[in-house]
Amino acid sequence: MTSKCPLVSFILAALTLSTTFSLQPDQQKVLLVSFDGFRWDYLYRVPTPNFHYVMKYGVHVKQVTNIFITKTYPNHYTLVTGLFAENHGIVANDMFDPILNKSFSLDHMNIYDSDFWEEATPIWITNQREGHTSGAAMWPGADVEIHETFPTHYMPYNESVSFEDRVAKIIEWFTSKEPVNLGLLYWEDPDDMGHHLGPDSPLMGPVISDIDNKLGYLIQMLEKAKLWNVVNLIITSDHGMTQCSEERVIELDHYLDKDHYTLVDQSPVAAILPKEGKFDEVYEALVHAHPNLTVYKKEEIPERWHYKYNSRIQPILAVADEGWYILQNKSEDFLLGNHGYDNALAEMHPIFLAHGPAFRKNFTKEAMNSTDLYPLLCHLLNITAMPHNGSLRNVQDLLSSAPPGPIPYTQSTTLLLGSVEPEYEQEESYPYFIGVSLGSIIVIVFSVIFIKHLIHSQIPALQDMQGEISQPLLQA
Ligand SMILES: [Zn+2]
Repeated sequence: MTSKCPLVSFILAALTLSTTFSLQPDQQKVLLVSFDGFRWDYLYRVPTPNFHYVMKYGVHVKQVTNIFITKTYPNHYTLVTGLFAENHGIVANDMFDPILNKSFSLDHMNIYDSDFWEEATPIWITNQREGHTSGAAMWPGADVEIHETFPTHYMPYNESVSFEDRVAKIIEWFTSKEPVNLGLLYWEDPDDMGHHLGPDSPLMGPVISDIDNKLGYLIQMLEKAKLWNVVNLIITSDHGMTQCSEERVIELDHYLDKDHYTLVDQSPVAAILPKEGKFDEVYEALVHAHPNLTVYKKEEIPERWHYKYNSRIQPILAVADEGWYILQNKSEDFLLGNHGYDNALAEMHPIFLAHGPAFRKNFTKEAMNSTDLYPLLCHLLNITAMPHNGSLRNVQDLLSSAPPGPIPYTQSTTLLLGSVEPEYEQEESYPYFIGVSLGSIIVIVFSVIFIKHLIHSQIPALQDMQGEISQPLLQA
């Protein structure tokens, strides 16, 4: 009986290790929520008790670097693909593709052309290919047919549908007979009001309070459906917002002849397609036009923006300084708040909070990239990530246990399309190595104890055997 104890301990140790390193099936559920245009510091503008409740019992990342350009559609597609804009192809809210000879415009809602979306594969498709089901409540792009697939459940985009109705759908999908493991929920504010009022307006206080109440409602509904401690809830956004002023407007008509170019996208990043034979003229007229406007030929766009290697990026890009606005002339609409600027600017950064069985409690992390969310989502859903620009290693300290290893490769690369060679990153982390080392030590220790017991219990027999063998030899 005593000789069995080390074996039992060994099995127990092995079981403990395996449960530490893998998420239980009922932990593999994710609800991703985006409050459009929720700047990182809105959390501190007015009391936001519901956001702080999530932070206290979950995790919070103080600085999230999103992707350039800091617009809605490019960043929402990054959240669900882990790719930079040049790699997923949604390079702006307004685009022109010279190969397809087609335009994409949020203003005209002609965003339903699958061709624009199929340079990438969003997570709901990968999730469904692995046998799971997904549900999307108004998530940008989730009602577009991509690679001949829609989310298992989705609401066709309609901004007049209330937050409560969107939440009701999410709850329905998570609690149905064939529950989803992935839910996506989108809400238009505080972006809409941020544009309208400007983020510095004192009237933004009630807008932020209203979002906090909406989060409170979501938590309440999750609790009521017994999902609050089951679902991994991630609350984030696409970008922040900065204050603009009619005194900081750059009017293109002052510098350029309207007949010489097409303005594909306008502010604060003007995407300029010169008419045939007019490239030099347009570029020379604009390059030193205004001290708060930086003008790039496509090939000169800074590498750090990962915004170059795509045919939808136009030959000339003019980027306004923070708080400056680009218009053709002042007869056009002007908004008091805007985003789209350099993604290195703090005011462009969104929030990131998470709560659930997979996440640590009361844990604050300094920084992450929005591209890192995708590999984190794939890990939580236990699905294999497509190639992406993020890194699970950057964010795995948010998790209450180390991911199982070895983790399927995740790519940290510009995935080009250009001169940079893809690098393959082995996603093994410091905590992972600690876990493996600790596991190995336990296994070795128990093996030694087990072998010692085995030897000990066999020694009398061996001594007898030796005795039996040696005696005849001695006698010989
Ligand atoms: Zn947005």
